[in-house]
Amino acid sequence: MKITTLKKLNLSLISILQFSLWVIIFLVYLLSVKPSDIVVFLNVGQGDAILIQKGEIQLLVDGGNGKEILYELPKYMPFYDRHIEYLLLTHPHDDHLVGLLHVLESYDIGEILYYPVCYENNNYETLLSNSTKKRGVSAGDTISLDSLEIDIIWPREGDSTAENCIKSWNGNINNDSLVLQFEYLNKKFILMGDAEKEVESILISEGVVSGKYDILKAGHHCSKTSNSETFLKVITPGYAICSCGEGNKFGHPSSETLNIFDSLAVQYLVTYEQGNIQIK
Ligand SMILES: [Zn+2]
Repeated sequence: MKITTLKKLNLSLISILQFSLWVIIFLVYLLSVKPSDIVVFLNVGQGDAILIQKGEIQLLVDGGNGKEILYELPKYMPFYDRHIEYLLLTHPHDDHLVGLLHVLESYDIGEILYYPVCYENNNYETLLSNSTKKRGVSAGDTISLDSLEIDIIWPREGDSTAENCIKSWNGNINNDSLVLQFEYLNKKFILMGDAEKEVESILISEGVVSGKYDILKAGHHCSKTSNSETFLKVITPGYAICSCGEGNKFGHPSSETLNIFDSLAVQYLVTYEQGNIQIK
């Protein structure tokens, strides 16, 4: 009788110790996710999602096409931080927009930044009808993440229509993408959204871009409609990031674009090959 009681006691002691060990492992895991200064090009399938984090301040540029973003953000944001200061929609195509709707349901959002271009898309309407504070932005505006200043260099603000939105610049909504540039982590970044060659030409001819860039978020998922040789020769990126899903129906990244990267010795990284691409 005595022996049985001791055995039981030993077993429950072992269980408590095992449980405590798991609790400790879990706490160490949670504490290991600390806020860090980082830019991450997230692997969210066919679409764009870029997290710019300065300490506990976040700017999420696009959200990809689905829920994948919700699995990627916790890898970089501290577990206790459920607040994202800014969501920025470069342009209202689903491969940039849909993930932001999921983020809005799961996080507390400070402000949605977007270029108020006229475009019919139910998901765009859903985003715009969300009660979160919204701000229309365009070239000349700056987003401040503490001391980090992110400059918006495109599009120039167009004329408003009767519907209270802005007419597309040339009818191709890709070319109404918000284009961002900033210096962070001792690197110069340019994020092109899905802007195409017509926008690249203007950025060059008007001297909006100049000098060497370290990191280019290549336009339109490294499609051949963007990333002209002339543009790449001007900005001479150290790395080009292609944000694409494996086996996508659009054929991104275009072999033509990759050949230009090769010929100019631009190193390129594709999200579906590399996974999340972190710049620290
Ligand atoms: Zn896109």
